[in-house]
Amino acid sequence: MYDYGECHNCGTRIEERRVKQDLWIKGKLLIVEDVPAGVCPQCGARVVNADVGHRILDIIAHHKEQQKVRTIAVPVFSFSRASA
Ligand SMILES: [Zn+2]
Repeated sequence: MYDYGECHNCGTRIEERRVKQDLWIKGKLLIVEDVPAGVCPQCGARVVNADVGHRILDIIAHHKEQQKVRTIAVPVFSFSRASA
């Protein structure tokens, strides 16, 4: 297991969890599930190590050969129109 060290916000020991990682690629929102990431149990700060980051980009680049992906609809809110 990768050692994520201590949280840069609060100094708490980071724990490894499986998370949903959202990211924007060329204006499209993508979500990768079951990503191993370091999560601070105190403040929720999240760390993804560089190897995992590269693996995520690899999965996205080659997903057509590897696996079928499912698509979800995501609600989009406007901050500026919410305060009417
Ligand atoms: Zn923290």
